[in-house]
Amino acid sequence: MFFNLSARLAERRAADLYRQRPLLQSPQGPQVVVDGKPLLAFCNNDYLGLANHPDVIAAWRAGAERWGVGGGASHLVIGHSTPHHELEEALADLTGRPRALLFSTGYMANLGAVTALVGPGDTVLQDRLNHASLLDAGRLSGARFQRYLHNDTHSLATRLEKATGNTLVVTDGVFSMDGDLADLPALAATAKAKGAWLMVDDAHGFGPLGAQGAGIVEHYGLSQDDVPVLIGTLGKGFGTSGAFVAGSEELIEALVQFARPYIYTTSQPPALACATLKSLGLLRHETWRREQLASLIRQFRQGAEQIGLALMDSFTPIQPIMIGSSARALRLSQLLRERGLLVTAIRPPTVPAGSARLRVTLTAAHSQAQVQRLLEGLAECYPLLGPEDA
Ligand SMILES: *Cc1c(COP(=O)(O)O)cnc(C)c1O
Repeated sequence: MFFNLSARLAERRAADLYRQRPLLQSPQGPQVVVDGKPLLAFCNNDYLGLANHPDVIAAWRAGAERWGVGGGASHLVIGHSTPHHELEEALADLTGRPRALLFSTGYMANLGAVTALVGPGDTVLQDRLNHASLLDAGRLSGARFQRYLHNDTHSLATRLEKATGNTLVVTDGVFSMDGDLADLPALAATAKAKGAWLMVDDAHGFGPLGAQGAGIVEHYGLSQDDVPVLIGTLGKGFGTSGAFVAGSEELIEALVQFARPYIYTTSQPPALACATLKSLGLLRHETWRREQLASLIRQFRQGAEQIGLALMDSFTPIQPIMIGSSARALRLSQLLRERGLLVTAIRPPTVPAGSARLRVTLTAAHSQAQVQRLLEGLAECYPLLGPEDA
């Protein structure tokens, strides 16, 4: 029998890997309604609490009045409108790069950048814990594709020795499922020594990191010479949707010419760019959001250590609780949900086998009291899991 989907689905269920979509029946925020139940949620990536901000909503509304709804065409035909252009200029200014190029999603920005820069005969080297969109981009490029050990410059250097053609080293800035930071200064030096380019996907760094929220590159004070290709996404810390690549004049012009996911798609709605322009201002200037976030992260880590939870080496809003087996991670998530707390279990293949976890994310929209409620829930539920073996 062809397409034996029922067997594949049954197999996934039996392995505790079946995915389901919770139905969100409220706007994004700490207090949500999911599948008919009010819950206190710790799993979105809206780190600064901008996804449902009144000023961002007002900018979207005004943008729709002024510019209509649809982008209408691709950027190269007649879809590149004034709000898109202004947003690109503001993103270039935020990142301190000559130019930025707007993409519809982070997935597309990653596919576009990697496939435009390397191809057959070239080399792409990636951290083994990189986001799926980067790994897919590496495969699609046709370049020789290898992964190096997580954040390990020796492992990278060994692979650089054998690299051929144009060589692109690619890493997450903040690792999306672990919350730790790429060792960018060391990676940049290693890449530069071999004439390779470093590309950083800082989807989770923009907003929380850096004095102005410009992410890991601002955090480490690195230049365009260290990180020639910088990617940011707009659906996380910016609270809206879309993505961008920032870099030199030449890099951006090359992407306009050669990045197929840029060329062959309709531009995002111009009103969305209006909303993002507004959220960019809040992200950059309302520093109290980063301070609030940092204080909640400290509170969570201290409380979690007292309970004896296995935290990871992270000072970012991504604070995973390592569990191990998928069944146990699902069980802890379920126990918390029965107590009104929503924390998603993250399982393979999103994370390596045997490293299922609860991915707690904190946002500036959470309160101290809400983090306290989460800690109380964890203190009650974690011991109920019992010893590992089941
Ligand atoms: C979420 C994410 C993406 C994808 O961005 P979208 O705009 O959601 O498509 C890419 N890279 C990383 C590291 C991410 O976490």
